[in-house]
Amino acid sequence: MTDVVDRLRAELGAGLRTDPEARAAHRRDTWVLSELRELRGEPPPDPAAVAEPATTGEAAAVLRICHEAGVPVVPFGGGSGVCGGIEGRPDAVVVSTRRLRGLRRLSAEDLLARFGAGTGGMEAEQVLEECGLTLGHWPQSIELSTVGGWVATRASGQFSTAYGSIEDLVVALEVVLPGGRVLEVGRGPRSANGPDLRHLFLGSEGTLGLVTEVELSLRRLPELRLPQAFHFESLPAGLPAIRELLQVGIHPPVVRLYDPPESARHFASWCPEGRAMLILLHKGPEAPTRAAAEVALRQVGAVGGVAADPAAVEHWLEHRNRVPGFRGFLERRIILDTIEVACAWSRVGELYRRVLDALAPVPGLLVASAHSSHSYRSGTSLYFTFAARPEDPAEMPGLYRTCWERTLTETLAVGGTVSHHHGIGRVRREALARELGPEGVALLRGLKRALDPRGIMNPGVLIPD
Ligand SMILES: Cc1cc2nc3c(=O)[nH]c(=O)nc-3n(C[C@H](O)[C@H](O)[C@H](O)COP(=O)(O)OP(=O)(O)OC[C@H]3O[C@@H](n4cnc5c(N)ncnc54)[C@H](O)[C@@H]3O)c2cc1C
Repeated sequence: MTDVVDRLRAELGAGLRTDPEARAAHRRDTWVLSELRELRGEPPPDPAAVAEPATTGEAAAVLRICHEAGVPVVPFGGGSGVCGGIEGRPDAVVVSTRRLRGLRRLSAEDLLARFGAGTGGMEAEQVLEECGLTLGHWPQSIELSTVGGWVATRASGQFSTAYGSIEDLVVALEVVLPGGRVLEVGRGPRSANGPDLRHLFLGSEGTLGLVTEVELSLRRLPELRLPQAFHFESLPAGLPAIRELLQVGIHPPVVRLYDPPESARHFASWCPEGRAMLILLHKGPEAPTRAAAEVALRQVGAVGGVAADPAAVEHWLEHRNRVPGFRGFLERRIILDTIEVACAWSRVGELYRRVLDALAPVPGLLVASAHSSHSYRSGTSLYFTFAARPEDPAEMPGLYRTCWERTLTETLAVGGTVSHHHGIGRVRREALARELGPEGVALLRGLKRALDPRGIMNPGVLIPD
C-alpha cells in the first residue's frame, strides 16, 4: 500500500488524503447496519487513503495505479446510499468525486446540461433554476447525494411518475474504466446504435468504472402546479385509481398513496383515521394541467376516492425532505429500515398483504407499513417501512435480516423486482442473484470480468462473491 499511496500522492498532491478524519468519514454510506456497527464501536474499517481527483485525467491516473497494483477502489459520491454500497477496508482506496463538481456545459436550446459527477443534487438544481430550467429529478436525498451517485444507483425522484427516473434523463456519460481508459457513451436525443452502453453504468454501483461526467436532459420550469388529495378505505382500494389515471394517459409528477398507518403518521389533519391518503400534484402549462386535474377528479371519484383538502399536498411538499436519521432509533434499541420494491398492477395489492402478513409475526415488531410512490402504466412501487425492538439488543441485526428476507421473498413470489430505486449494495446481493437466476448472474460476472479483469472496482457489491 505504501508504494501505491506514494504514487497516488505524486499524481494528486493534496488531493490524496490519509489523515484519520478523512479516512473515517469515507468508511461507510448511510446503510443502517453500518450505522449500528459504528454505534456499537465496531465500525467498518477505514480505507488506506481517500483520493480526491479534480479532473478526469487525475481520476484516470488513480484507476490506472490501483489497477496495476491490484488495489480495491471504492467510489464515494455523497455517501447517502442506504444499501451498504460503500464499506471501508484497510487495503482499499476510496475515490471521492467531491472535487469533480460543477456545471460543464448548458444549452437552453437543446435542454441539456453536463455536470461533473460529484456535483451535489441541489447544487445542480439551483444552477438550472436560475436559468428557468429544472432537472425534474428530486430524490428525497437531493441535498445529500450527487449526480454521479444517482447514475450509479439508478435513482428515482419524487416527481418520477411524469418525468421518469435517472435512466430517462441521462443523455451521455463519461466513465473512467479500471486501467484508466476514458469512455464517452451516449448521444441524444435517441440512437439505434446496438445495445445502449449507458445502461452498463446505470445501477453499476461503482463495480464497473468511475462515472466522471453526466449529461442530463432538462425541463422548463412549469407554468402551473395544481395539488389534489383524496382518501380511500385502504391502500389496495386506492391502487386502481392510480392505475386508471396512468392507463388513460394522465401522469401527474407526484402520485403517492399511503396506507392507513402512514396516512395517520403524515396526514393526520387531512385524512380520517383508518383511511388511506392519495396525493397528486399536476404540473405543466396551464391548459393541459387544468384539464389533467379535472380528469383526475372524475376518475379518482369514480373508483371510490373521497376528495380531501389539497393543503395535505402543500404539507407534504414542505416536509418531504425531512427524515429523522437512524441514530436516534438505534440508540433506543429499535432496528428499522425501508425496502422499496415494485410489481405489476395485477399483483400489487396481494404483495402489500403478503409482506404485512409475513412481517406481523416478527418478534418485537412495532411498525410495518407501506406507500406507493412511483407508478407506471403496468405497475407501481411499494415502499415498505419496518421497525422492531427485540428484547435482547444483540438480536437487532438478525431481526433486520429476517424482515428483509421475508419482504424480498414475497416480492419475488409475486413476480416483482427486489429494488425499485435504492439499488443493491450489500443488503440485496443474494436477492438480486435469486431474481436474475444463474444465467443472469453469469452474464453480470462476465461483464465484470470484461471491464474490470482484476476485480478492483467496489468488490463485494452487487454480485455475490
Ligand atoms: C434520507 C435519504 C433519502 C433518500 N431518498 C432517495 C430517493 O428519494 N430516491 C432514491 O433513488 N434514493 C434515495 N436515497 C438513496 C440515495 O440517496 C441514492 O441512492 C443516491 O443516488 C446515492 O447518491 P450518492 O451520491 O450519495 O452515492 P453514494 O452513497 O456515495 O454511492 C452509492 C453507490 O454508488 C457508487 N458511486 C457513487 N458515485 C459514483 C460514481 N461517480 N461513479 C461510480 N460509482 C459511484 C458508490 O460506490 C456506491 O456503491 C435516499 C437516501 C437517504 C439517506
